[in-house]
Amino acid sequence: MPIVIMKFGGSCLVNEKAFNRIYEITKLYKDSKKIYVASAFNGITDLLLKTAHSIREQGHSTVDKNIALIEKRHIDVIEQIIPEDTLNYRRAKDWIDTKLSALDDVLADIKEFGLEPYYVDYVTSFGEVLSTYILSEYLQCKGLDAVFIPANKIIITNDNYNNAYPLYDLTNNRIHDKIIPVLETDAKDFIFCITGFIGRNKIGYITTLGRGGSDYTATILARALFDVGKDKDIKVILWKDVDGLLAINPKYVPKSSVIKNIDYSEAKEIANFGAKVLHPKCLEALEKNKIPLEIRNFENPDEKSNFTRISEKTDIKEIKGVSAIEEATIITIISGSMVDIPGVLARIFKEMAKNGISVSLVSQSASEISTSFVIKAEDSQKAISALTNNKYFKDFFRIKYEDVAILNITGSKILENRTKTILFDALDKKGINVKAISQSFEELNLSLVINKNKLIEAIQVIHEELCEDVEIKNLS
Ligand code: ASP
Ligand code: MG
Repeated sequence: MPIVIMKFGGSCLVNEKAFNRIYEITKLYKDSKKIYVASAFNGITDLLLKTAHSIREQGHSTVDKNIALIEKRHIDVIEQIIPEDTLNYRRAKDWIDTKLSALDDVLADIKEFGLEPYYVDYVTSFGEVLSTYILSEYLQCKGLDAVFIPANKIIITNDNYNNAYPLYDLTNNRIHDKIIPVLETDAKDFIFCITGFIGRNKIGYITTLGRGGSDYTATILARALFDVGKDKDIKVILWKDVDGLLAINPKYVPKSSVIKNIDYSEAKEIANFGAKVLHPKCLEALEKNKIPLEIRNFENPDEKSNFTRISEKTDIKEIKGVSAIEEATIITIISGSMVDIPGVLARIFKEMAKNGISVSLVSQSASEISTSFVIKAEDSQKAISALTNNKYFKDFFRIKYEDVAILNITGSKILENRTKTILFDALDKKGINVKAISQSFEELNLSLVINKNKLIEAIQVIHEELCEDVEIKNLS
């Protein structure tokens, strides 16, 4: 039987309607074994962090106020979703009581000893411990066989507090001993409710996996289950408040199309360009065993096609992303006399490195007469003065610079000449000049340097020509 690991973020855990939808989703996946990973309720992690950081200055009255607020948020939800006369109701309420008094104790410790890194992780872990337990009690009161598992029982990490990395060998052992025996029984209605975001190090202290880390929890579990379990038919679903990964930030194109099929390398590429929907480390966890991941809209649980699936398969017809760097500077170093001389680029980049400036796009034609490279606009003054004060560059080169925008177009499709023809034709129609261009051998990404004022227009015309839904195009 297939295994599905679903992650429910804070926005899936807000009220009765949302919890009922989780129940509906549970029915939709009745033929799969289910593992649910829950985040903290919206805003709770931030509030916990703020409380931990301010306790020394603000004293206990603010702490009391914040704890009361956390209590109220959780009790309100419990009262909406679990009938009062049930055992589940009483257990959920008791849980909140017990956990919040433990939280109170640790906050007192922080006040006494200071905010050691360990405490930050421990304090923030309460968000998921509260939310996930409530989810498990809710599912139980619906008659399902849900069981609560704090992830620090199964995910073992290094000691890197606030941003811990899983130690897979140790984690696999735990999964093998604690999860597999139950998962591999025939009881398909069994639902594991596992806290997102949390792990523990070898000495037993709670660690956390970085902000937004519940997605990571889901992918770590998938990887470990694949490694040690018999059943290899595993998929991860992240329920989000968007339809999936969008090809273009809606700030540029309000009705940007959803990317339907994307492979791991393309997905990593767009994640690196700031598509905040998914962290690259989640992809890294899945890629090893080629485990598919779906990003789906929580509002539309039974959507048949309009969602993103990340797997080995990609849709070659689709461009996977158009992103932009809005504020960049291109620096060009020109010389007629310095061609075919080794070490010029090394000197340029050494100068940038010395000044802590990171270089993004680099472009030089084979004639070697000029070299252009792009840096963040905020670094431009520093970069220019470093180069102009360097005797070597002053004597033999001309240095030019201009504020520009960079467009990145991502997807295997960019490797085809035909795509570039369409792209340049489209830009040409709008009179948009491409000042510099770069695509490296292995990269599924083409970067274009254009006039800043033309950025939005460029993105829109590229969207029209390359991203609009292929099916829609065929119909019209
Ligand atoms: N609650 C954690 C955070 O807000 C983890 C998560 O939501 O994924 O960062
Ligand atoms: Mg959160």
